[in-house]
Amino acid sequence: MASETNLPLPPCDLAIIGGGAGGVLAAMQALRQATTPLRIVMIEPRDVLAQGVAYATTHGEHVLNVPAARMSAFDDRPEDFLDHVVATTPAGGPGRHDLAHAFIERRRYGDYLRTRLHEMIAASPASLQIVRDIVSELDARADGATLHLAAHGALLARGVVMAVGNTPKPLPARGAPQLPEGRSLAAWDFDAVKALPTDAEVCIIGSGLSMVDTVLSLADNGHAGPVHVLSRHALLPLPHCHGGAATFDPAPLQALDLRGRLRFLRQAARQAVADGLPWQAVMERIRPHGQALWQSMSTDDQRRFLRHVVRQWDVHRHRIAPEVHAMLQALLDRGQLRLHRGRLDTVMNEGRRLRVTTHTRDGRTDEFDVDYVVNATGVEMRAQTMRNPLLHDLLGKGHAQPGPHGIGLKAARDGRMVDADGHVQPRIFILGSLRIGCVWESIAIPELRGQAETAVRELLSPTAS
Ligand SMILES: Cc1cc2nc3c(=O)[nH]c(=O)nc-3n(C[C@H](O)[C@H](O)[C@H](O)COP(=O)(O)OP(=O)(O)OC[C@H]3O[C@@H](n4cnc5c(N)ncnc54)[C@H](O)[C@@H]3O)c2cc1C
Repeated sequence: MASETNLPLPPCDLAIIGGGAGGVLAAMQALRQATTPLRIVMIEPRDVLAQGVAYATTHGEHVLNVPAARMSAFDDRPEDFLDHVVATTPAGGPGRHDLAHAFIERRRYGDYLRTRLHEMIAASPASLQIVRDIVSELDARADGATLHLAAHGALLARGVVMAVGNTPKPLPARGAPQLPEGRSLAAWDFDAVKALPTDAEVCIIGSGLSMVDTVLSLADNGHAGPVHVLSRHALLPLPHCHGGAATFDPAPLQALDLRGRLRFLRQAARQAVADGLPWQAVMERIRPHGQALWQSMSTDDQRRFLRHVVRQWDVHRHRIAPEVHAMLQALLDRGQLRLHRGRLDTVMNEGRRLRVTTHTRDGRTDEFDVDYVVNATGVEMRAQTMRNPLLHDLLGKGHAQPGPHGIGLKAARDGRMVDADGHVQPRIFILGSLRIGCVWESIAIPELRGQAETAVRELLSPTAS
């Protein structure tokens, strides 16, 4: 299916930049919505589609953070992923009801997207060409764009969906670039984490979901050595809990300032508990309103949120399977997992070990020696510091501008990219994490599938500009 030659590419109706989950969702929408033999091109440097950093893991211990019943690729077929899971679970395994609530292996999600993509290619009047390449430059035009691919040269496209996704952050420490080969690992290098010696002393930098992946891999390996977790707040992700959503009306939240909203949510959590519901029911209630809540906040309150509230928000919002949380707690209780609050200063070679030095906000310093460090600091949010040549090109030429608070790129409400002068690019849509600054909730599958549907509908509409 992927083009194996570097011949020039004929013009296309739609170019999708990036073949991670977001790009594949956009391709499926285009194949589904097409009523004529459109030409769609998806450009992705990786060999395998629908992976990106989230679904590239081949390890069974890495599970989705959301139950299967809520991971469909399509708004109008809410149980589609569950159908796939049921159909691909061996006979004698859990039944549909149990699978609906289960946290399925992430590798099965990539399989699901690829399966559906192939089905849609077979059923659509449109054609999809997958080009293994990278888009390094883009020239926006009123009637589309010219993409410049590293190996294939120029590609004319009548419409573009940019789904370039997540860029991991480098380790934020002096000394990190000088560390010996193999001693400093990225959390997303799943195989390297899995290959660590089981008696090694490991320090994971960051305490979010990538840290959880790393600890799960170490535990799956029978790791016996101490595992340090360092983060500025030392907060761990909290668990999901069955119990559904609370029933309060979230609309009044939008009229409140940040302080008022936090007060409202604390009160709602107390009420939920009094009603016999877990506090998680409050987060479930406001989950579909995440974008509206962000967009109704003043710029100053958004800034305060990013400075003072975001980490608390993350651990309540991005929860983990209860059994995964229980496993982390057991490791903490027996002292194998050690949580450090502090900001990383340096990681230096110290004989045959690595010395990690940190400081806290109140000026206390700490240092300890380990055998390996694992960078689990997550994804880069600022477009200007992402190591993606396409973003530098777009910003440099003024085809795009940074998003609010410097996060991602600025997009109109429907996802169209906005240039440096504030003009909307009529034929270029942005999808996924690059829109976090504008809408906040913009990385999980429910948001990606909605954005993909809108972008493709607008670009393929016969009345579109
Ligand atoms: C560890 C982890 C677990 C997650 N778990 C869940 C979950 O349980 N439930 C949920 O709903 N969400 C989850 N998410 C969030 C979400 O589903 C993912 O972030 C999603 O994979 C994002 O897809 P994407 O296509 O936007 O970005 P990515 O997956 O990052 O894909 C972007 C693709 O674009 C390509 N690319 C980049 N630049 C260029 C270029 N210039 N030219 C061509 N190609 C380019 C890259 O090679 C990459 O393949 C998780 C995320 C992570 C990181």
